Amino acid sequence: MTHHITATREDGAVFEVSYGYGPGRRRLLGCRHCDWQERISYGGARHKGLDHLAQAHGALGSPRMTADAAARRQVVLVMLAGFAVVALILWWAASQG
Ligand SMILES: [Zn+2]
Repeated sequence: MTHHITATREDGAVFEVSYGYGPGRRRLLGCRHCDWQERISYGGARHKGLDHLAQAHGALGSPRMTADAAARRQVVLVMLAGFAVVALILWWAASQG
């Protein structure tokens, strides 16, 4: 299993569907919270995983893989670094006056 599709219920509980290659290189979705499994023969893995989480567990997720979370964190860090630089420049400019 290489990807995780997550969805969050109203009470904050997080549900997860694993997605990856099963036996015979078949793409396989598997729920971590019940015995639901589905073989994927063509696209829409995320959609099917989220569908299951919504219908069986009442959890809603954005159509993104968890793998994207690391990338999002990186973007946030870069933005924070940018703000820090701006703050430094403003502080420098203020100290010149
Ligand atoms: Zn399930």
